[in-house]
Amino acid sequence: MSFSFEVLQNDRTDARRGRLTTPHGVIETPVFMPVGTAATVKGLTQDALEELGASIILANTYHLYLRPGHELIRKLGGLHAFMSWKNAILTDSGGYQVFSLSELRKISNEGVRFSSHLDGSEHLLTPEKAAEIQLALGSDIAMVLDECIKTPAPRDVAQAALKRTTEWARRARRYFLDCAERSGIPPQWQFGIVQGATFADLRRESARQLLELDFPGYAVGGLAVGEPHEVTCEMAEVVTELLPKDRPRYLMGVGRPEQIAGYVARGIDMMDCVLPTRAARHACLYTSEGRVLIKNARYIEDQRPIDPNCSCSVCRRYTRAYLRHLFAAGEITAAILATHHNVRFYLDIMGQIREAITFGHLENFASELRARYAAGPT
Ligand SMILES: [Zn+2]
Repeated sequence: MSFSFEVLQNDRTDARRGRLTTPHGVIETPVFMPVGTAATVKGLTQDALEELGASIILANTYHLYLRPGHELIRKLGGLHAFMSWKNAILTDSGGYQVFSLSELRKISNEGVRFSSHLDGSEHLLTPEKAAEIQLALGSDIAMVLDECIKTPAPRDVAQAALKRTTEWARRARRYFLDCAERSGIPPQWQFGIVQGATFADLRRESARQLLELDFPGYAVGGLAVGEPHEVTCEMAEVVTELLPKDRPRYLMGVGRPEQIAGYVARGIDMMDCVLPTRAARHACLYTSEGRVLIKNARYIEDQRPIDPNCSCSVCRRYTRAYLRHLFAAGEITAAILATHHNVRFYLDIMGQIREAITFGHLENFASELRARYAAGPT
C-alpha cells in the first residue's frame, strides 16, 4: 500500500473529511495524533493505544536522534519494529526541540549547531541531516527542518527566518527526492512547513514559496506558542486558503479540546499536542462537560466515572473518588488511567467532528463544546 490522500466530503465551513492512506494503515481525517516523544506515548502501552483507536502517532526526531540514536533504530528494523507499532507514525524534524530545549545553539545557513540537553555533546542539524534521520527511523510522514523563532517576533526576524526556512525546505526536498529515486519507491511522505510568525503577508509568502517545491502535504508551524487564540486562527486561515485542496494540512502543536473544531472549520486535517497526555499527568481530565481537576476535595466521595458520556475502559471501571485517591497517594497508576481517558476523549472528539462534517453541523458542535469549556474547571 502506498501513499494517498482524498477528500471525501466538504462542509459549509472550510472543514473537510478525508482519508489519508499510508503503508501502515488508513487514517480518517481530521485526525489528532497523540505525542510519543521518545517512541512511547507517556503512560500508554502500544496495546492501549490500539484499543483507543490511535491510527497515527507522532514521534520526536530530536529525542530519538540523541537517544537511542537513529542508526540503532535503523539496525533494529526501523521505528515501527523497534517500538512494535503497526499503525502510522509522523516524525517532526527536530527543529522545534533544538530551538526550545538546547541552551547552546548557533544558527547559520548551513544548519543549527547545538549541544545536547542530555550530556552537552555537540551536534549539527542540517536540512539534509533531519531528512536522513527520519528516513532511518522509517516514519510514514517526515517534516522538513524549519527555523523556529520566539513569538512575538519583530518583522525583520520573522522575514529572515522565513527566507531560511524556504531555503532549508528546498535542500531537504532535493535530498529526500534523490534518496527516493535511488531506492525506487517513495519510502515516506515529506511535508513542508509554512512559517511567517504572526504576519499574514509573510505567511502567504512562505506558503507560495513552499508550493513551488510540490510537497504532498503542508504544515503550519510556529503557531500556538503564546500568541492570542484569534491570531492562531487567523494565521491558519490565511495559509489554508492558499494550500492545494487535494493535500493534507497539518497544524502543529494544537490544541485545547474546545479549539479543535475551530481549526477543522478553517481547513485543518491533522493536529498533534502534548496537552491530553501532559495534563493527565497533572491530574487534569478532559470530559464532555468541561475540565475536571481530579485532585479537588469535592471528588473524595464521588462515585461517578470521570466522564459519564465516555465509554473508555477507565470510565467503565473506576470512580472519580478512586482516581483522586491515586493522585493524592502519588501512584503511577493515576497517570496511566488519566492518560488513557484523556487520549480517548481527544480521539472521540475527532470522531464526533468527522460525523458533524458528514451531517453538516460542525458549527453547532464547535459552539456547544466551547460553551461547556467556557464555564471553567470543576
Ligand atoms: Zn473515559
